[in-house]
Amino acid sequence: PVVSQQAAPAASSKPSCKPVVFVPVDRSPEIQEARLKLPILAEEQVIMEAINENPIVVICGETGSGKTTQVPQFLYEAGYTSSNGIIGITEPRRVAAVSMSQRVAKEMNLSHRVVSYQIRYEGNVTDETQIKFMTDGVLLKEVQKDFLLLKYKVIIIDEAHERSMYTDILIGLLSRIVPLREKKGLPLKLIIMSATLRVEDFTENTRLFAVTPPVLQVDARQFPVTVHFNKKTPLDDYSGECFRKVCKIHRMLPSGDDDDRKESVEEMRKFKKSRRRKKATVLPQINLDNYAVVPMDEGDEDREAESDDDIAGSDVDLDLGDGDSEEEEKSDSSLPLYVLPLYSLLAPEKQAKVFRPPPPGTRLCVVATNVAETSLTIPGIKYVVDCGKVKKRFYDKITGVSSFRVTWISQASANQRAGRAGRTEPGHCYRLYSSAVFMDFEKFSAPEITKRPVEDLILQMKALNIEKVINFPFPTPPPAEALAAAEELLIALGALKEPPVTGRPAVSEEETVKLKGKKGRLVQMQRIWAGQGSFQKLGDLMVMLGAVGACEYSGCTPKFCEENGLRYKAMLEIRRLRGQLTTAVNSVCTDAGVYVDPKMKPPTEAQATYLRQIVLAGLGDHLARRVQAEELLDDKWKNAYKTALLDDPVFIHPSSVLFKQLPEFVVYQEIVETTKLYMKDRVSWQLPAVEVDYPEGIDRFKYFAKFLLEGKVIEKLGSYSQCLLSNPLIMLKT
Ligand code: ADP
Ligand code: MG
Repeated sequence: PVVSQQAAPAASSKPSCKPVVFVPVDRSPEIQEARLKLPILAEEQVIMEAINENPIVVICGETGSGKTTQVPQFLYEAGYTSSNGIIGITEPRRVAAVSMSQRVAKEMNLSHRVVSYQIRYEGNVTDETQIKFMTDGVLLKEVQKDFLLLKYKVIIIDEAHERSMYTDILIGLLSRIVPLREKKGLPLKLIIMSATLRVEDFTENTRLFAVTPPVLQVDARQFPVTVHFNKKTPLDDYSGECFRKVCKIHRMLPSGDDDDRKESVEEMRKFKKSRRRKKATVLPQINLDNYAVVPMDEGDEDREAESDDDIAGSDVDLDLGDGDSEEEEKSDSSLPLYVLPLYSLLAPEKQAKVFRPPPPGTRLCVVATNVAETSLTIPGIKYVVDCGKVKKRFYDKITGVSSFRVTWISQASANQRAGRAGRTEPGHCYRLYSSAVFMDFEKFSAPEITKRPVEDLILQMKALNIEKVINFPFPTPPPAEALAAAEELLIALGALKEPPVTGRPAVSEEETVKLKGKKGRLVQMQRIWAGQGSFQKLGDLMVMLGAVGACEYSGCTPKFCEENGLRYKAMLEIRRLRGQLTTAVNSVCTDAGVYVDPKMKPPTEAQATYLRQIVLAGLGDHLARRVQAEELLDDKWKNAYKTALLDDPVFIHPSSVLFKQLPEFVVYQEIVETTKLYMKDRVSWQLPAVEVDYPEGIDRFKYFAKFLLEGKVIEKLGSYSQCLLSNPLIMLKT
């Protein structure tokens, strides 16, 4: 069961540094019984010996084997928290941090005051906290304040296989922190936990760890999962196929089980629609009340997919066959299906529903994004429908073009998804793609750090006071040339001038201001917020400022947000973020004549001009010029813009207030490819372009360079220009 790649030293060979205290835990008999079924329980002694003897240990085990819930308990019982220092566990996803802390508290019969969580702006940590679940971003922030992380005795980096950017940075940092703590005589234990087995990036990376850490492998799945592949080539309408598959499973396969599917939020919408259509015939009592429709979140959602089945495993009885669907729809299902969504932006109360038994006489169907792939184990899932797709953000480092694309998952992901079906009894996974397609999947998906804009990464690192980013021990380093180029760009923009950008908060997926609601109302509010006359030149930025300002003025109530198509949660986060930035900017920029008004009144005309200059200065290479009539090459250039970086026509996005105005020059934050190339902001604000002016007689494409040389604005703002560009929600007084 537990195999050590490099034999951990035998416990007897040298004096153990195991803490002597044993801390009793009072678990309920049911919990105790359930725990004993987890494979990891059998390995407690081996795991604890390895941890006692080694500063860094890697634990690999399939999802559901008990790593996240049990390892912190092993450490607690072994006395790791009883002398100065707590156990910290990082999760790449907020959902996991919250729900795992609740689960562990429940298993240990301890209150949330002791087993707590901290995610950005939210948490229940107290002075009594001994086990703290948090997002990797939260721990990264803590490193900024206390580089040695002295309050922790143990750090567990969970879900390391996901290879989130923050996780990778943390592992690099901890590879240096652990020896430093050792030197100080205050040893810190680092445990890296991973669901899949690709750990060579951590263990065989000589820049990372001086001594290769032992790798403990925990055997995993309790019950076999039969995998059914499709015969047919997958179709485009995987959402529809998914729906049909679920209906089939529900009609034909034994009841009393659950069914788990993974989709993007967008697909949830379609799924919901198709469900409505079929409600009367197939699924008579579906509960749609909780089936929320929300904007896309972080872009790592999953989806589902295609058509009919074929059998790869042995359990022929459960093959669903290729029946005539018309006829099948007439057959009745005995139980109503209770459908719940699960995705990371869903309110915690609603997320918690999937862990509770469905109403009596119903069968649970969870429509989930990637969160259900590894982070959360929903009890009792027997059938998994896997579309084999994932929606990912692609970023072209050369052109700066970002696009969301639906692509095939990796083999590792497919196996994770299948594994979700065998938690409590033998299960089935219906892959809506053929085995030939599966064989073509990549084995693992690439680490996030290799896919994100390098500038973001550099700013993150500089915020940690890491000067030589090129020398940083990343588990998988981005290309050195890309790092150097990004650094140059940031210096040119003034974002990296002394002092380092300490005030810039981590960009989180929930900063988003999204306008929703009825289209007419939305357009009306856009128009009001966009202002009149020269204010309109601030384009979507003005809309954004107007929205935030109006919301503040109204006291930021849920009612105001609801009526005006704003997401309440997002507005609260913006308010907190502004508070943070206001303090930072005020404390540094007092001499520079910059004053930040936390109340955020509407800008004056001069301020609006100033803001446009800032945006132009910061995004000078993201300048676009409208193609003039005499330059029209062909029809595809109609209403198009030309940029310095691309040969293809780009367009103002229809959601922009500048869409109809078509100003001669605009700057955009990024280009997103959907049906066309559209200029947009970062995905974190939905709204794109700002109109800019140019003095006559200057080479307009080079204007921004001149502006930068003059450097008036940037000089005043120093390193905070980047804050403002990312978060243009504060006002400046000239
Ligand atoms: P791993 O981290 O190895 O994927 P976990 O520790 O997350 O495994 O889960 C171990 C087991 O704990 C799961 O198989 C599941 O049965 C149970 N479990 C986890 N969270 C919950 C919960 N919120 N409610 C009920 N059972 C849970
Ligand atoms: Mg886990």
